[in-house]
Amino acid sequence: MASDATEPTSVFVGIGSNMENPRVQVQRAVRALGGIRETQVSAVSSLYLSAPFGPVEQPDFVNAVARLTSFLDPRQIFGHLQAIEKSLGRVRNERWGPRVIDLDLLVHGMTVMHEDDLTVPHPGIAERNFVLLPLQELAPDLEIPGLGRVADLAVDENEPRISRLD
Ligand code: ATP
Ligand code: CA
Ligand code: CA
Repeated sequence: MASDATEPTSVFVGIGSNMENPRVQVQRAVRALGGIRETQVSAVSSLYLSAPFGPVEQPDFVNAVARLTSFLDPRQIFGHLQAIEKSLGRVRNERWGPRVIDLDLLVHGMTVMHEDDLTVPHPGIAERNFVLLPLQELAPDLEIPGLGRVADLAVDENEPRISRLD
């Protein structure tokens, strides 16, 4: 995949935090995304408060989705996301456990890839309303490669476990 593409790609990043003032962490992450080279933050969703899922007892999450316009390829973006997680103090790596910040590469244009450490589109989008609701706010008609249109995936409008923050 060329990193010197002449047309920028539309990229969606999932942001989550449930430690150390999550709203502030999400704002910091958005600011850091704006610092990625050859990349602009073109939109940010509202913040959503969502009950945690999975086996670990932990505080609610604040979630959001950012839309980037970038000349970087998926692996380059992923490298930046990991660096930002680190710079914001993510230390624990328990999957689905509490974290200061979690940045997931949700969608990168039409890319479909399955590598050991990087799957795009991010697996699990279709089952996660805490991703689909903010994504729908930004791009209801987005076709996620292999999954379908966002607004069709986010069917449960009265998701009781998720509320939109102002
Ligand atoms: P989930 O991936 O189910 O949302 P998580 O965010 O809690 O869970 P992490 O501990 O942050 O999981 O990451 C686990 C691994 O997921 C990472 O080591 C990373 O290599 C891998 N991964 C695969 N595809 C992606 C992607 N599209 N975006 C971010 N991480 C990914
Ligand atoms: Ca995640
Ligand atoms: Ca992650």
